[in-house]
Amino acid sequence: MYEMQTRRNPERVKIIGGGLAGSEAAWQLLKRGYDVVMYEMRPVKTTGAHKTQRLAELVCSNSLKSVLSDTASGALKIELKHLDSLILRSAEAASVPSGGALAVDRERMSEEVEKALSSFPNFTLVREEVTDIDDGEITVVAAGPLVSDALAEKISRLSGEEYLHFSDAVAPIIAADSIDYDKAYFASRYGKGGDDYLNSGMNKSEYLAFYDALINAESVTDKLLNAEFFEGCMPVEVMAKRGTDALRFGPLRPVGLDNPNGQKYYAVAQLRKENLAGDAYNLVGFQTNLLFKEQKRVFGMLPGLENAEFLRYGVMHRNTYVNAPKVLNFDYSMKKHPNIYIAGQLSGVEGYVESAASGLMVGLNVARKIEGKEPIIPDEYTIIGSLTRYITNPAVENLQPMNANFGLLPPIEGVKDKKERKKLYSARCEESIKRFVEQLNER
Ligand SMILES: Cc1cc2nc3c(=O)[nH]c(=O)nc-3n(C[C@H](O)[C@H](O)[C@H](O)COP(=O)(O)OP(=O)(O)OC[C@H]3O[C@@H](n4cnc5c(N)ncnc54)[C@H](O)[C@@H]3O)c2cc1C
Repeated sequence: MYEMQTRRNPERVKIIGGGLAGSEAAWQLLKRGYDVVMYEMRPVKTTGAHKTQRLAELVCSNSLKSVLSDTASGALKIELKHLDSLILRSAEAASVPSGGALAVDRERMSEEVEKALSSFPNFTLVREEVTDIDDGEITVVAAGPLVSDALAEKISRLSGEEYLHFSDAVAPIIAADSIDYDKAYFASRYGKGGDDYLNSGMNKSEYLAFYDALINAESVTDKLLNAEFFEGCMPVEVMAKRGTDALRFGPLRPVGLDNPNGQKYYAVAQLRKENLAGDAYNLVGFQTNLLFKEQKRVFGMLPGLENAEFLRYGVMHRNTYVNAPKVLNFDYSMKKHPNIYIAGQLSGVEGYVESAASGLMVGLNVARKIEGKEPIIPDEYTIIGSLTRYITNPAVENLQPMNANFGLLPPIEGVKDKKERKKLYSARCEESIKRFVEQLNER
């Protein structure tokens, strides 16, 4: 039985999209007594990836990643628990055994979400595609990375055309401190590019083993993904299937990248600095459709990446998102249209749990706006606070959708042991989120 507020607020909030972010935002508003009208276009219109008409459907993997407290995903879940997240609560109720991860029976999880939302008399669900947004009424746009074309067009007009991105191909991003620098070496092709590139060189037998694993690895199969590929953004595994040497003439060409030790390689994979801090590297040319666990296994065969921590896995599907540093305030409201809030993957966060977390922040802040209170976001020592600050930081020039990761947090210096350091990050996240909850209750 869910706690229901007897106080009813006359304000009604419109939420577009009944996915992870929309459902979480709705929950936060409903339990504070607000009326919510949620518009969900399925089953009237589908996205191409969703398979049911259920709310909070997981479109692909049934895993919400790690629950271990020494991981950023684990820390994010601890924060969400303190904030009474509906998505987390429902996932836990629907969990299936999965070691250190939170994997779920997806139907059961949606059922939990629907049960919770519909237990509120002030919740209305309308099965309809929204094609317009009125900036005079408070609206949460949580239409996801596969937002319908008509609504995308409207968002693009509201945000400024140049600030709505559609990416198709993303290569994996790896935490710099998880790379083995005894094996990977710094060098730019023909010396152009300073130390922005790290290289993973392979001899012939290492390359052939990698090649064999790559062409036999399991991919995401979905009609949405089996598109024709442009030459420039072909999945690395598709390119590999053209022949044993295709990659050696493409992204793994071993020319102009001499190892300072003088060693010659048969093939070389390159990693490029992803950000100025240099704490993340992009695997150049490795856009891929491989399952996440296969990316970890196969790309982990590259010398130096045996223990790589993937901050973000490669994907090849439509991903629509706004250029948040230009478009959004730190509370996810639009700079030019403060009644409109963008939540979920559309706001520039990446991942199921991250999308839910942004929906939670939006729900909280919409309630505060109606109550005439200042917007509020947890501090930068939390995963939610640091992720929100990252995506809305005006200094970020070229926003790429971002997962939860410890690299976003202010560093903890002087602790050499990586596992120990991660535990400390996580403990600090929990302390900070507890303070935030106290603040919320006070202000
Ligand atoms: C193919 C694919 C696979 C992914 N796999 C993973 C994964 O394995 N793990 C992971 O962590 N993340 C994954 N993601 C990324 C992301 O976490 C999910 O897309 C997540 O569901 C985003 O949550 P959301 O609430 O922003 O959007 P969604 O959950 O997609 O919810 C948006 C909702 O809005 C509705 N909608 C769209 N347009 C309109 C409209 N005009 N009017 C009314 N309703 C509308 C949609 O039908 C949908 O129900 C994947 C994304 C895609 C596209």
